[in-house]
Amino acid sequence: MKILFATSNPHKVDEVRAILSPRSIEVVDLASWPEVPEPVEDADTFEGNARIKAVAYARAIGMRCLAEDSGLEVDALGGEPGVHSARYAGNQGTRTERDRANNLKLLARVASMSTDQRMARFVCAMCLAEPDGTIVAEARGTYEGQITSEPRGGNGFGYDPLLFLPDVGKTSAELSSEEKNARSHRGAAMRSMLEKILDRR
Ligand code: IMP
Repeated sequence: MKILFATSNPHKVDEVRAILSPRSIEVVDLASWPEVPEPVEDADTFEGNARIKAVAYARAIGMRCLAEDSGLEVDALGGEPGVHSARYAGNQGTRTERDRANNLKLLARVASMSTDQRMARFVCAMCLAEPDGTIVAEARGTYEGQITSEPRGGNGFGYDPLLFLPDVGKTSAELSSEEKNARSHRGAAMRSMLEKILDRR
């Protein structure tokens, strides 16, 4: 089976491939279709944006399409940055530069907070659409932790260096890719989605 995964983020592709490849599901990403326009992700929920992407790319490319929308919610900030996680500090620069600016902005926002005010979670909403745009499955995963005072770790991407996991005394960016996938929002959503995909076979 072959599935289009509607992302251009190579980290997300690796994480999803690690779960689907052992089940003989081939994952292709958007790199092969640079000409397909990005849909406007203007929903105010992760689920809404995942649906917009799954339906738009499934129809545009004519393949069964898996899309995800994900981000970080900080409780004491009323769920910020939430669906605005990718562009929290603006639209400028490369992905790495945006990640760094986002992390600095978040660290500044939580600077005066105590440890127990720093509860946060990554959320991932996934949606699977058939080539005609029909939505056939949805899944959600979360990944709980606390925002650190300074970034730690070189693995992963985005806000990984800021999510501290008290039970292991590490940030998400200090986990191996296998360890992160075993407990992450994307890993959980993907495993739940995989069951639904296999049920439909
Ligand atoms: P998207 O790629 O438009 O869905 O944006 C997701 C945003 O949430 C980006 O800013 C990512 O950095 C952040 N994000 C989502 N998942 C993760 C993760 O697994 N680790 C770190 N940051 C993440």
